[in-house]
Amino acid sequence: MLRDDAAPPSEEAGVELLPVRMLNEFAYCPRLFYLMHVEGRWEDNEFTLEGREAHRRVDRTDQLLPDPDHTEGASDDGDDEPVVVRSVSLGSLGLGLTAKLDLVEAAGDAAVPVDTKRGRVPQNPDRSWEPERVQLMAQGLLLREHGYRCDTGILYFAGSRSRVTIPLTASLEQRTHELIQQAREVARTRAIPPPLDDSPKCNGCSLAGICLPDETLALKRPDASSARSGGSDESSEAEGVAVRRFFPPRVHAMPLYIQEQGARVGKRGERLIISKENVVLSEARLKDISQVVLMGNVSVTAQCLHLLCESGIPVVHLSTGHWFYGTTTGITLRNAYDRAAQYAAAGDPVRALTLAKAIVLGKGLNQRTLLGRNVRPRPVLTLKEMSMYLSRVPSAATRDELLGLEGATAAKYFSRFAELLRPRDFEAELDFEGRNRRPPTDPVNALLSFGYAVLVKECTVALLAEGLDPWWGIYHQPRHGRPALALDLMEEFRPLIVDSSVISAINTGMVTGKSFQRTAAACALTPQGRKNYLRAYEGRMDELVTHPVFEYRCSWRTVVRLQARLLARWLRGDIPDYVPIRTR
Ligand code: SF4
Repeated sequence: MLRDDAAPPSEEAGVELLPVRMLNEFAYCPRLFYLMHVEGRWEDNEFTLEGREAHRRVDRTDQLLPDPDHTEGASDDGDDEPVVVRSVSLGSLGLGLTAKLDLVEAAGDAAVPVDTKRGRVPQNPDRSWEPERVQLMAQGLLLREHGYRCDTGILYFAGSRSRVTIPLTASLEQRTHELIQQAREVARTRAIPPPLDDSPKCNGCSLAGICLPDETLALKRPDASSARSGGSDESSEAEGVAVRRFFPPRVHAMPLYIQEQGARVGKRGERLIISKENVVLSEARLKDISQVVLMGNVSVTAQCLHLLCESGIPVVHLSTGHWFYGTTTGITLRNAYDRAAQYAAAGDPVRALTLAKAIVLGKGLNQRTLLGRNVRPRPVLTLKEMSMYLSRVPSAATRDELLGLEGATAAKYFSRFAELLRPRDFEAELDFEGRNRRPPTDPVNALLSFGYAVLVKECTVALLAEGLDPWWGIYHQPRHGRPALALDLMEEFRPLIVDSSVISAINTGMVTGKSFQRTAAACALTPQGRKNYLRAYEGRMDELVTHPVFEYRCSWRTVVRLQARLLARWLRGDIPDYVPIRTR
């Protein structure tokens, strides 16, 4: 509730009020506060869902507090029957706070805030945790600002259905003011606060997968230098650093590809309905979808787009020839700092070259590993030549020099790539002699081009989710229509995801000679051929691997998202190096 005579203070005075709930998060962990309050990040876990359930009743309707000066009917001895008011909004310019109080018990000019918490009463001497007490104290301060006497607050623990009375003392008040001040200062900075070190708090934190506390600390430690360099053939794990299991290890939601020409995507409740000429072709639950990929002439209703934007599910637009037009996304992240850091790094020759070297090295080493592991007899000379080019990467002085080394390494790699393939029924047609494109002229190049087009949109979506600009590259130069930063991110994954899934699609017979249509000048996948390859691609993305740096199990799709997140953190200066993924 705001005073009757006041417009919302933040609009009137240009002051951003700090939500009291965020003060609780700040007291718990300043990094959590920053991610939630400044960057607008959110992710549910079992504890947040339980907390929301506990609040369901008190959140039902907003109510107004009785006037504290309204003493009619109040007894002189202060023994008034308390009035219970739920879901009370309060704000104060003086305190710089805003809050929605779960419940207030008011009697005459006295008021007691009651805050609902999930779980049971903590078994510690205070029977409560500091963040909860600070939040309650801040609510008490707001009530005092609005004319009430407020000497105690109550924490109601839904799990044990018990109340704990918290005295709102002078020392708690002072601590609360200190935290308000500190939170304001943190909110004003562009630097993300460091993560907590090996704290049990992280185990219950729903943003652990976004914050990456152990990963960040592992990459910051001096003994992780071998992992950070990315240039050695030695073990690349962050040695001696225990990184807790990433959860969830694989992304449950999957991309929904729609390539039926003339199809229309609509919605019914929380389901997407794909239909054509009023016949339903298929349905999908919103919670099972990570992105909607429209290939060619496929339309979406406005209502469906609104739902997807609201739910943070991007829509990817490709032409029938898989030219990437762009994405439609909702306004989820409100953080502009990542983009500012990205543009600054792109304009800084030293930082740009550092990242470019890491990218070229990451891709080249992964190509070399793929050949070394799978071509028999071992292509010793080719591997040596690739190593020779890659050994010159760390000392490259310009981007052009790097482009030359990257091209020379790739030429060696693709000169032996056909030896990885054992097609079932198109040996005679197999005329792969190296990469060609626009248009591809043979089946293998058609598959590789299609796979890279799918992967680049995956990287685009991952970068957008981090608040980065996929069109402004650092190694790849920005050019109209080219998602240059997505191409930067994609390099290390080309051999690991696309080349591997192409090999597996051919060698397992998922794609055969019938999967292609050929003319004298070009070769393209048929619609069924694309479908078959996408099965191989999605299988690879969903495959669980041991993360080469952090050594926990997660899917390749999770690894791509992690790398996008770590790239954003490197750009912001949260970690010292961007370490490309390398398999051994
Ligand atoms: S995971 Fe740990 S360090 Fe990161 S925001 Fe949560 S509590 Fe803070």
